[in-house]
Amino acid sequence: DKKRLRRLRGMAAQTMDGTTVELHANIELPADVPAALDAGATGVGLFRTEFLFMNRETLPDEEEQFVAYRQVVEQMPHYPITIRTLDIGADKSFGSSLDAGHAVSINPALGLRAIRYCLAEPPLFLTQLRAILRASAFGKIKLLIPMLAHAHEIDQSLALIEQAKAQLRKRGQAFDDTIPVGGMIEIPAAVLAIGLFTKRLQFLSIGTNDLIQYALAIDRADNAVAHLYDPLHPAILQLLSLTIQAGARAGLPVSVCGEMAGEPKLTRLLLGLGLRQFSMHPSQLLMVKQEILRADLPSIEAIVKKMLKAQEPDKIREWVQQLVT
Ligand code: PEP
Ligand code: MG
Repeated sequence: DKKRLRRLRGMAAQTMDGTTVELHANIELPADVPAALDAGATGVGLFRTEFLFMNRETLPDEEEQFVAYRQVVEQMPHYPITIRTLDIGADKSFGSSLDAGHAVSINPALGLRAIRYCLAEPPLFLTQLRAILRASAFGKIKLLIPMLAHAHEIDQSLALIEQAKAQLRKRGQAFDDTIPVGGMIEIPAAVLAIGLFTKRLQFLSIGTNDLIQYALAIDRADNAVAHLYDPLHPAILQLLSLTIQAGARAGLPVSVCGEMAGEPKLTRLLLGLGLRQFSMHPSQLLMVKQEILRADLPSIEAIVKKMLKAQEPDKIREWVQQLVT
């Protein structure tokens, strides 16, 4: 079976009716790129940058970050590389000495994490932005901002990106001036006010790991409530559908980069919801591609339409089962 999957490597990810789907990889280190290429990924949909900041006593400087980002681009020069700015806090915490004097959150998942932290520490954020921008001179980089909820957070982020560009211009350093800027959709409020996002950003990436956590009030790291963490909850399907539809209406690419995207049992459901860009751990990619190659979109769409209306969990599960077989 492994051998059969391997044969799918070079094939375009296309449904039976000829719809093309992008399959990208999630990576956490430059050393993960070979596995992504080996699985046939045609881009990096999520490069988590936390590894540069975790388990150490000092912050990485611009040069160290630039080298790491360039390493990824140089290994995949013709493919889009989506670099996510620092998502520190909650389940991805700093080592001891880097809290910069901020009080420890009582509830870190709801605290000063990700973009909130970066906007509270502009020099740290600007350093990372300059490093990413400099790497953008070497390939096709896209910039992704995590944990956005407010319009003013997007506006501040965009202003800081402009400031980082101005600093590089002054130094005479090259960067891609048209670098696309996108946002993670992983807070339910962002979905319900999605127009604020489609108006300001150039692409969206749905982080289902956090979206489910915040929509269902289930700590994603707490085993005691893990049985309630349900990607098929009707509210989650609505949140996904709303985001994908809003992206389509605004003409913006939408991807899913949470664990759901790498679950072959959910591939057809996501296709039926309108998703055309998946990003996942490289180990999942060929299994998801196999599902796509066997998928007949018109019949899937008819079933997913019923699922969105039905709400009853038993019905949803029955139809998901029907989609898979
Ligand atoms: C997510 O929240 O779904 C996601 C992809 O980001 P992370 O798992 O790094 O929070
Ligand atoms: Mg997340």
